[in-house]
Amino acid sequence: MRLPAFRYLAPKHLAEAARMIAGAGPEGMLVSGGTDLYPNMKRLQFDPRILVGLRHLPELLGVSGDPQRGMQIGAAAPLHQISLHPAIRARYPALATAAGSVATPQIRRMGTIGGNLCVDTRCNYYNQSYEWRRAVGFCMKRDGDICLVAPGSPRCVAVASSDATPVLMALGATVVLTGPDGERTEPVAALYHDDGMAYLAKRPDEILTAILLPPVNGLRSTYWKLRRRGSFDFPILGVATALVLGEDGTCTDARIVLGAVASRPVEATEAAHLLVGRRLTPELIEEAAAAAYRPAKPLDNTDLTLAYRKRMARVFVSRALRELAGLP
Ligand SMILES: Cc1cc2nc3c(=O)[nH]c(=O)nc-3n(C[C@H](O)[C@H](O)[C@H](O)COP(=O)(O)OP(=O)(O)OC[C@H]3O[C@@H](n4cnc5c(N)ncnc54)[C@H](O)[C@@H]3O)c2cc1C
Ligand code: SF4
Repeated sequence: MRLPAFRYLAPKHLAEAARMIAGAGPEGMLVSGGTDLYPNMKRLQFDPRILVGLRHLPELLGVSGDPQRGMQIGAAAPLHQISLHPAIRARYPALATAAGSVATPQIRRMGTIGGNLCVDTRCNYYNQSYEWRRAVGFCMKRDGDICLVAPGSPRCVAVASSDATPVLMALGATVVLTGPDGERTEPVAALYHDDGMAYLAKRPDEILTAILLPPVNGLRSTYWKLRRRGSFDFPILGVATALVLGEDGTCTDARIVLGAVASRPVEATEAAHLLVGRRLTPELIEEAAAAAYRPAKPLDNTDLTLAYRKRMARVFVSRALRELAGLP
């Protein structure tokens, strides 16, 4: 498969990049590491005539701050750097785990955290060559009219497949977006729609410039990822869990976010509420895991069976909570 022809623009600064992508109009797209976009272009799922490269913009590089005051991660920081960053590994371990579990070592050196938050939704009927998709009559995400997974569905149900997003939601992170109307800061959760096609709640000409991690304040976190091959597969379930335990072991804050179970990450709020104000006993953990698995509604459009993926949501929430509570 070959890349279709396009013009690559290499802005030197963020303001220049913002002008270029606004000027390119519907023919333009942003690219960082290209590890998601270029394969998608080869499969003719996107055919931008102009690409605006973000990878070397100085404003989007680097990791700064500290866990006491909060940290800022440039959107073009490679996943490799995040997975190895000493402060992130020590105090935001779920993020280091998620970044370090994306794809392969080579892809983690090219792929960026900003690209990971904007990664395309996935589906067995979509992540295929043009010829394969044509043979099955295409689907509404590209070139067709109906959803081949749920033919009665008015919308595409492709799966949110970022590893970092559920973790950043659980950590309470925010994103900084720069567009023609200036800069805005939003909670990570506000970046997504539950729609496999229009999955990003941002304008195409808005550039994700940074991710802001709040001060740790005692938050413990972990990330559990399900996939067939541990060496490089996308998640078919991701469980991000973050909680604060007081000195007597009472939980004072909890967040559980499930990835790869819908077109956007899903917060298991009922399960998190069950934990707050109580000690994490094995019985409470099982009660919370049972509540967390209810909002997981995977469909038959990624690897392994949907019944197994749903069952594993309960198992992984239980294992994640046990890990954070220090239980065997
Ligand atoms: C074999 C393989 C395995 C993979 N496995 C995983 C996996 O396990 N988990 C996972 O999460 N991902 C996986 N990926 C997808 C991808 O490698 C990662 O998500 C990576 O982090 C994407 O970052 P990037 O910089 O390469 O994004 P790009 O490909 O450059 O861009 C991806 C999308 O984000 C947009 N974009 C990029 N940067 C910005 C920005 N700063 N502001 C606004 N929009 C932006 C682009 O326009 C494009 O739509 C895999 C890819 C491959 C090829
Ligand atoms: S969920 Fe349906 S519309 Fe979306 S990519 Fe899959 S088959 Fe296509």
